[in-house]
Amino acid sequence: MKIVVCIKQVPDTAEVKINPQTNTLMRDGVPSIINPYDLHAIEAAVAIKEVMDATVTVLTMGPPQAEVALRESIAMGADEAVLLSDRAFAGSDTWATAYTLSGALKKLGFDLIFCGKQAIDGDTAQVGPAMAEFLDIPHVAYVSKINSISDTVVEVRRMMDDGYDVVETSVPVLFTVVRELNQPRFASLKGKMRAKNAQIRKLTHADIELDEKDLGLSGSPTQVKNIFAPEMKKERVVFEGKPEEQVTELHNVLKSVKCI
Ligand SMILES: Cc1cc2nc3c(=O)[nH]c(=O)nc-3n(C[C@H](O)[C@H](O)[C@H](O)COP(=O)(O)OP(=O)(O)OC[C@H]3O[C@@H](n4cnc5c(N)ncnc54)[C@H](O)[C@@H]3O)c2cc1C
Repeated sequence: MKIVVCIKQVPDTAEVKINPQTNTLMRDGVPSIINPYDLHAIEAAVAIKEVMDATVTVLTMGPPQAEVALRESIAMGADEAVLLSDRAFAGSDTWATAYTLSGALKKLGFDLIFCGKQAIDGDTAQVGPAMAEFLDIPHVAYVSKINSISDTVVEVRRMMDDGYDVVETSVPVLFTVVRELNQPRFASLKGKMRAKNAQIRKLTHADIELDEKDLGLSGSPTQVKNIFAPEMKKERVVFEGKPEEQVTELHNVLKSVKCI
């Protein structure tokens, strides 16, 4: 079974900086980590490899420095790592990111694809399901448990607001995973040594045979016009009177600010 885990390198900070001229994320000078949800995706893949005949490939689309995240994945137990990097990918929105990654996935081949639920910087949770659409395969989002797995069928639990669904799916399939799925392992010393010397396979747009016009900024149907933090307004209002009068007053206020 060939398992591919898609990981994203994200800034190690809750405070994402935005370039005010281009409205894009400023990654330079900000320490980076593997997107925390993707650690659970790596763990799931490596755990499957321990119980059945499988290989784990980790794939990221990003700048050359994303190689660090790939080496960390190898240290956790992945067999090989692929860096999808090209100037032609710059400015990709979620559509172009998913399209480009799915081009690489077609080239690499796959049975199972694991993604994180969402990236903690972009936060859209769109890339996993969008890739499944481009690849024309089923996907299950918010996977919190793998009940059973064979070369052809997988049964998983999908976390829902009010409980969980049990879903059986054929292979190939794409899963996006949540924290509840597992506890990511620490890299072993042996793993770290293997990661240090590992060859990272590099792919450009030419390798995945996609037209440059469909990539990066020119392949992105959405453009960021403006990004800003919502203005914080701290206005304290105390309602007086009987509870029912206070409720009426609150109702009127909420109506006046179009909350209800
Ligand atoms: C309208 C719009 C315009 C944008 N424009 C730009 C821009 O001009 N420049 C720019 O730098 N960014 C831009 N971005 C951000 C960029 O598109 C996203 O970082 C990227 O598409 C991933 O989306 P996300 O962070 O929301 O990931 P999510 O969809 O939340 O990620 C879910 C999962 O998908 C996988 N995944 C996500 N990204 C990658 C990746 N790169 N490699 C491998 N796996 C991955 C991971 O498993 C991750 O856990 C834009 C985003 C939007 C919505």
